[in-house]
Amino acid sequence: MNPHVQFLDRPLTRRVSVGVPVGNVLVGGAAPVVVQSMTNTDTADIDGTVAQVAALHRAGSEIVRITVDRDESAAAVPKIRERLERLGIDVPLVGDFHYIGHKLLADHPACAEALAKYRINPGNVGFKDKKDKQFAAIVETAIRHDKPVRIGVNWGSLDQELLTRLMDDNQAKGFPMTAQEVTREAIVQSAILSAELAEEIGLARERIILSAKVSQVQDLIAVYVELARRSNHALHLGLTEAGMGTKGIVASSAAMAILLQQGIGDTIRISLTPEPGGDRTREVQVGQELLQTMGFRQFLPVVAACPGCGRTTSTVFQELAQTIEGDLRRNMPVWREKYPGVENLKVAVMGCIVNGPGESKHADIGISLPGTGETPAAPVFIDGAKAATLRGPAIAADFQVMVADYIEKRFGRGETA
Ligand code: SF4
Repeated sequence: MNPHVQFLDRPLTRRVSVGVPVGNVLVGGAAPVVVQSMTNTDTADIDGTVAQVAALHRAGSEIVRITVDRDESAAAVPKIRERLERLGIDVPLVGDFHYIGHKLLADHPACAEALAKYRINPGNVGFKDKKDKQFAAIVETAIRHDKPVRIGVNWGSLDQELLTRLMDDNQAKGFPMTAQEVTREAIVQSAILSAELAEEIGLARERIILSAKVSQVQDLIAVYVELARRSNHALHLGLTEAGMGTKGIVASSAAMAILLQQGIGDTIRISLTPEPGGDRTREVQVGQELLQTMGFRQFLPVVAACPGCGRTTSTVFQELAQTIEGDLRRNMPVWREKYPGVENLKVAVMGCIVNGPGESKHADIGISLPGTGETPAAPVFIDGAKAATLRGPAIAADFQVMVADYIEKRFGRGETA
């Protein structure tokens, strides 16, 4: 065997970070990687924001960030918190502040109290002599309310004074670094210097999370590897402006998978631009699937479905795989409570006899549908043994009933094997 080939099925070593409690969720330390998301409603629209936070949380978001950009939205925050609590939703809310966060937090103490964490962008917390003063004001509010802070650097709003200073230093040394390298260095330094300042003001390291978001995959990897090397702060991973649809999903997954595999990252957010009228919960689904597909966390039962090929000309198996997956996802918020361990279930939906029986036997419950020219019969395998053969037009519905029965029998008594 080539000695350079290694098979990796887990992060090399999870980087040891300082755990930060965000409401009832621990980020970093020994906690599993947390999936979070952000609303795109106007926070002053209390009904709309409550509905979207609830939807994101139902989809599995463990922390939800909301924009706090003006007095009306700051005033709405405690009302949103109260409404969520009445609905039995205790998901931590994070306030996203830019430019006037110090003022909003001072003028709206109920907002400062209702939030579980404040996000500060050191690139736009204030300018010139006001910068450190306003940064300190937010940090002091966090200390007073015993809240953690995320120091969230963003490529698009990078501290220009710091960048200019590093560019000048680089020039004075005869340009040993490229402009891209200097910019990456400025991003890392902005996060680390801001964290040092927050600690000098009195905020404990157990109350600080760092992020350094950029929009290019290679930049993100380089910046986070360096951030992880130079600090032990909990890290929030995210590719900013990842884009729409498959582009955003692939770019975010590629960047984050490489970092997560190296043990870097304590919480993730997938920043997808939704299609007009699109479903905001997609970013939560992608985050969960990324962690699950890499074997780091288990959120949902797995549905293994073959891609189909010329041996099957009908779409029955695609429709069945989609229906089963949709059913599982829709029912999970209730099933998680009712059927402990159900997220470990493996279902197979296969298109023909070539790989169908084999793959189905490896699943907890699997069906091998008939391919073109095969006898119109669909064997079902349960725990590796053939349990039934389905025939006729109701194969899909019959299999759905069998899956539901299997879940009830295996997980209904709390068995988690
Ligand atoms: S299981 Fe059958 S239908 Fe599915 S991809 Fe393989 S050969 Fe094609």
